[in-house]
Amino acid sequence: MPDSFRAVYAEKPGERPAASLRQLPFAALPEGDVLIEVRYSSLNYKDGLAVTGAGKIVRAYPMVCGIDLAGTVLESKAPAYKHGDAVLANGQGLSETRWGGFSQFARLPASALLPIPHPLDMRQAMIAGTAGFTAMLCVLALEQMGVVPGDREIVVTGAAGGVGSFAVLLLARLGYRVAASTGRPELRPWLEDLGAASIVPRAELAAQSPPLAGERWAGAVDTVGGQILSNVLASTASYGAVAACGLASSPSLTTTLYPFILRNVSLLGICSAWTPAAPRREAWGRLARDLPLSKLETLSREEPLSNIQALAEEILAGKIRGRVVLDVNR
Ligand code: NDP
Repeated sequence: MPDSFRAVYAEKPGERPAASLRQLPFAALPEGDVLIEVRYSSLNYKDGLAVTGAGKIVRAYPMVCGIDLAGTVLESKAPAYKHGDAVLANGQGLSETRWGGFSQFARLPASALLPIPHPLDMRQAMIAGTAGFTAMLCVLALEQMGVVPGDREIVVTGAAGGVGSFAVLLLARLGYRVAASTGRPELRPWLEDLGAASIVPRAELAAQSPPLAGERWAGAVDTVGGQILSNVLASTASYGAVAACGLASSPSLTTTLYPFILRNVSLLGICSAWTPAAPRREAWGRLARDLPLSKLETLSREEPLSNIQALAEEILAGKIRGRVVLDVNR
């Protein structure tokens, strides 16, 4: 093992930026069943909050940031994993209470890991990362509510972001008609290439609307919250469902009971962070089965971990298109 490794390290609360790239002694790695040589991580909105200090993500200091990782098992005390296995982790307290993936090495409990499901490789798993996983949780939640492909569209808000672009890609692949709502009209060709059947300007959904509007959507994946979520609920058709996972616009929701008691609309909460092992395995299995792998490169770009400060600012400003996969060795 090396004497030291590189990681994005947050030493104590209240500082800005909260975390920076540092060389840490190998002996500083926390205890855990499985030692992993990390190959790739990825950039999520939550990482932007943690690295800049704009949001209270880190719960225990010192902390290595990064809510996702993919790498190779070097040592394992857990029977489920052996030397050479390709594994991933997403959520499960990474960057909150457990040292995370913006690092060349990690040591984690086996319960935080999953084998990378065939046919995904480490890089593809991190192009998906928490964003793709969360989009899949939204799709599974809509399926469980009986929202099936049909003539009426499913709207995806924040469509050009990480969760949004994966939701567009997955829903289109599964045969749904997808309306992509975005504040970046210049990305229309890219969203159409991912499978969007129509583009809805963000401003159209951000305007004030009556508590109940025309039945426009069969369902929705909402990554932005606030007024847009309120409008989406008001325009969701009878027996439709809205999977709410994000707050890129606002954590507030002002709505009425009308969509729920007059149309049987369901509002489905999605939290990826502590998904138990069985549904986590199911969602990753579905990603491996349903993702059109040929589209993953157009949906992402690769960046060195050394660019993390600028990337963290970029994602909080809503300027990232799709996904960023991070090479932890650069
Ligand atoms: P991204 O920054 O990649 O995507 C967010 C998108 O939201 C942007 O690309 C933009 O899309 C849109 N957006 C940004 N700012 C605004 C605004 N002020 N008003 C309206 N729309 C806006 O982030 P992620 O995809 O990684 O995450 C999206 C959200 O989902 C975040 O709030 C994040 O915290 C949450 N999340 C929740 C998870 C969970 O488990 N519940 C897991 C992962 C993420 P466009 O340019 O197309 O308009």
